[in-house]
Amino acid sequence: MRATTAFNKMLAIPGAVVVGVSFGRDGIEVSLRLRARRLRCPCGWSTRAVYDRAERRWRHLDLGGSRLLLSAQIRRLYCRRCARVVTEQVPWARPGARFTRDFEDLVAWLAQRMDKTAICRLLRCSWKSVAAIVVRVVADHVDDARLDDVYRIGVDEVSYRKGHRYLTVVADHDRDGAVLWVGEGKSGATFQHFFDQLGPQRAAQLDAVSMDLTGAWPKVCAQNAPQAQVCADPFHVVKLANNAVDEVRRGQWNSTRHTGGRLRRTARGRVSTDPAAQLVKKTRWALLKDPAAWTDHQADQIAALRRARHVLFRAWALKEELRDLYRLPAGKRPDAHLDRWLGWAARCRIPAMIELARTIRAHRNTILAAVELGLSNSKLEGLNSKTRLINHRGYGHHSAAAVIAMIYLCCSGISIELPTQR
Ligand SMILES: [Zn+2]
Repeated sequence: MRATTAFNKMLAIPGAVVVGVSFGRDGIEVSLRLRARRLRCPCGWSTRAVYDRAERRWRHLDLGGSRLLLSAQIRRLYCRRCARVVTEQVPWARPGARFTRDFEDLVAWLAQRMDKTAICRLLRCSWKSVAAIVVRVVADHVDDARLDDVYRIGVDEVSYRKGHRYLTVVADHDRDGAVLWVGEGKSGATFQHFFDQLGPQRAAQLDAVSMDLTGAWPKVCAQNAPQAQVCADPFHVVKLANNAVDEVRRGQWNSTRHTGGRLRRTARGRVSTDPAAQLVKKTRWALLKDPAAWTDHQADQIAALRRARHVLFRAWALKEELRDLYRLPAGKRPDAHLDRWLGWAARCRIPAMIELARTIRAHRNTILAAVELGLSNSKLEGLNSKTRLINHRGYGHHSAAAVIAMIYLCCSGISIELPTQR
C-alpha cells in the first residue's frame, strides 16, 4: 500500500485527499488537496472565482509520538456578501485557526476537565493557543437559539481575579441553572446588553426573573420585560439579614470592649475581663452559620447569649425567623409568616434590625413571589466557586473574554464530542 493511500484511510480528512507525506523536523507533514471546486466564505456564500492562492498548515492530532501537520494550498475569494477578500472555509478547521477541528475539540474537552499547564504539556502547545482555541470552540457552540424559549431566569454577579472584577451571569431556571449569557461588569448597562441580545419578542416571553434587589437590575428588568415577575433571590435576602446581625455584633463588641476597660494578659493574648465582652467575643461564625452546622462550642456561645437575654440573641433569632420563610412546612402561608416577622422586627428596638425590616417591607411582594415560584439563585451562587476553580486552573489570567469563554464551556451545558467518539 502506498503511504498516501494509508494516510488517506487513517486520517479520513473530510473534503480532501492526501497527495503526499513527508517526514520533517516539525513532525509528519501530510499534503492535502481540496476536493471542492467552489470556494466557500465562512459566512456561507460561495463562488468559483479564485482571488489568489497560498500554502497553509494546520496542527492535527498527534500520530504516535510525532506531531502531525496538514498542509494544503488554499484559496482566497472575494465574498460579495461580506464585501471583502476572505480565505476560503475548509471542512477540517475553523475559520482563522491553525489547528484542525479535531485538535481544537480535544483541547476544549480537556479544558472542561483539567488545568491549562497540563494541557500544554500533554499536547505540546502554548498557553495562548489553548486560550484562543477555547474562545473559538465556544463561539462555535454557543448560538443565539439558546435564548429561544426562555421563561424563568436568574441574574447574578460573579467575581473573578481575587474579587476585583465582576461578570454578570444570566442562567435558565428551567434548565437546571445552565448559563445563558455572561457579560463583563455588574452594572445596569451590562444587564441591558443581555436584553439587547434577547430582543423585545423573547423578552416578552419571560415569566419571572430572580435577582439581588439592591442593585440597578430590577429597574432594567422592568424596562425591558415589564410583564415578568421580579423575584428577590433568597440568598441575597438572607445575606441582608446576616449583614444586619453582624452590624449588631460589631456595635456590641466595640461598646463592651471600650467600657470593659481593663485588658488582662493571658496565655491566649490580651483578653478583656468584662463578662459582657466575653459573651460577644468570637461569635461571628456562630451567628452566621446554619445552626445545623454548629460545632459544640458555637452552640454553647448562642446558648450563653440566650441565657443572658442578650440583644445579639434577639437579633440572631430574628434573622433565623426570616430564614424560616424559605423552609416553611407545607400548608403554612408565607405571607402570614412574613407579615408576622415584619411586625416583630419593627418592634424589636434594635436599630440595625429595624432598618432591615424597612428594606424587607419595601420588597415584600418580590420576596413572596420568589417563595411562591420556588426560585432561588443557589445554582448561580455555585458559579462563584466554579469561577474560582477556572482561575485556579490557569484560565482566568488573560482577559475577561477568556473567563467568559470558560464559563460558557463549563457551565452552559456545552457537550464537546471527542474526535475518538465520532
Ligand atoms: Zn462572506
